[in-house]
Amino acid sequence: MRAVPKITPMPGSEATVDQSVTQALDAKVHSAVEVLRAAVRDYGKVVYSNSLGAESMVLTDLIWTQAPQIEIFSIDTGRLHEETYQLLDRLERRYQRRIRVVSPEAASIESYVAEHGINGFYNGLTERQSCCHIRKIEPFRRAIAGAGAWVTGVRHQQSAQRALAQAVEFDKPNGLYKISPILDWTNDDVWAYIRSHKLPYNPLHDRGYPSIGCAPCTRAVEPGADSRSGRWWWENSDLKECGLHPRVRVAGQKATG
Ligand code: SF4
Repeated sequence: MRAVPKITPMPGSEATVDQSVTQALDAKVHSAVEVLRAAVRDYGKVVYSNSLGAESMVLTDLIWTQAPQIEIFSIDTGRLHEETYQLLDRLERRYQRRIRVVSPEAASIESYVAEHGINGFYNGLTERQSCCHIRKIEPFRRAIAGAGAWVTGVRHQQSAQRALAQAVEFDKPNGLYKISPILDWTNDDVWAYIRSHKLPYNPLHDRGYPSIGCAPCTRAVEPGADSRSGRWWWENSDLKECGLHPRVRVAGQKATG
């Protein structure tokens, strides 16, 4: 296990990292590593659901170098961008380790497509959530079976909904703890870490995609827009979750499940 990584710009790196950012970020890196190690100590089997977004590059690096007891898995919904599959391959080659890839049940997808069509998720919220359930939630529940906690890359800054998240929460629907080690990281923090360590990342981020999910349900956004606004863009702005991070009810809002 290597020492806790410091955010020091590498000589020759094309992208430089502001020193004031790096000093503040070193403390956040230490804190995140402590949270990960405490999770291993306190919750037995801990798994990380790797979405292969920018935050996932940070967490994959921290886990495989600082808390390698944590099992990393990724859900292959079958509808991911080709760039995302290439990134998965690059990650495995860099660290010489496998990410467990979990797939949906083929029979469930066949049944969904027979009823709603290959892109039935555009037909309405119910159809979209049903697709997310089959392609994401069910495989997720299989992947976390037997774990005491799961790790997420959720950050407060990502959306108004995620601003309400806690570092450690009991995930009641799934019956285990949910750990968010980089909750207080800013977008700049994430990218400072990625650039400083020359980590691989999805090239779609350079094309205006702050958040990357399934290809038919994700699009580029204008600079400065809510990072989740490119997901399920045809729906209401407060429904930008697939179900892995259930909505927290906010005063004045209607519960939507
Ligand atoms: S993001 Fe879109 S394609 Fe992916 S599981 Fe959800 S509805 Fe289906």
